[in-house]
Amino acid sequence: MPILVVGSVALDTVETPFQKADGVLGGAASYFATAASLYTRVNLVGVVGSDFPHEYLDFWRARGIDLSGLQVREGKTFHWSGRYHMDMNSRTTLDTQLGVFGDFHPEVPDTYKQSELLFLANIQPDLQLEVLQQVPTPRLTVLDTMELWIMTTRPQLTEVIKRVDVLLMSEEEVRQYTDEASLPVAVRKLFALGLKYIVVKLGSYGALLFGADGTYFSAPSYPLEEVIDPTGAGDSFAAGFLGYLATVQPTSNGLYSVDDIKRAVVHGNILGSFACGDFGIGALRALTIEQVAARYRELVIYSHFDPHWRSPQVS
Ligand code: AMP
Repeated sequence: MPILVVGSVALDTVETPFQKADGVLGGAASYFATAASLYTRVNLVGVVGSDFPHEYLDFWRARGIDLSGLQVREGKTFHWSGRYHMDMNSRTTLDTQLGVFGDFHPEVPDTYKQSELLFLANIQPDLQLEVLQQVPTPRLTVLDTMELWIMTTRPQLTEVIKRVDVLLMSEEEVRQYTDEASLPVAVRKLFALGLKYIVVKLGSYGALLFGADGTYFSAPSYPLEEVIDPTGAGDSFAAGFLGYLATVQPTSNGLYSVDDIKRAVVHGNILGSFACGDFGIGALRALTIEQVAARYRELVIYSHFDPHWRSPQVS
């Protein structure tokens, strides 16, 4: 089952307290497509400038990523520059150069329109809406966003949230959007917009899954010894989430079981952890599904605890 993704394709400059990398491949759709191609075929919608290195296009094609929805325009590729703080979880945007992204409108090729899984990666909410108008009825639609859109285009973002099934947000973004200190209260407000699931990403601490049906699940993070560059961890999380779902059968009502959604969150954490191992897509390029499976087994051990404890005081 192929996944359709729309989002930014970028050349980034990333500074951490320890290293700096200039002109590395970035953008939400780049991370997502590279990571998700480990599981299934990916249909990519985005835009790059004439300066975009062909090497990446060749690599993506070889990984089964369909690029017929990737526009190549005269001009410069979107460029983002950011600096991570000492905790390697929070970052400051130093510069954004829109380039060809400035007047981009997504065009979904006819061959993509049957995609049953849709990922609206980080991009202006107006453009996410344009994609939703072009894709008739995906089985599952997942949305990612960022602080910038919560602050500058909130009404449009709300329109997108109302039309999707799953929302991925960092803990900080949930608080910014809802203006609530308590996560359960904040999540209740978000469910009023019609979502089925909300995944709250906790950076290096894992992720929480909330379901409109009352489901709650805390997914462990992988204890990484070294974080080289966390950029793209959120997009790789989405890739693990949707990539795993692309490999399983939905139930008879066309939806996914709660157990599969939980496994999808664990795959999200695993792919997010691998993305941190290098700048750009460096660590994802070499990743194998065997390495994903090994980390999955480790996480089961790290997060399992004995369910049979009983207090002698409780009959
Ligand atoms: P993540 O770390 O998962 O939030 O994704 C980081 C990626 O988002 C970087 O590679 C950036 O190129 C991209 N990005 C940063 N700002 C924007 C923006 N305003 N619109 C779209 N993509 C962006």
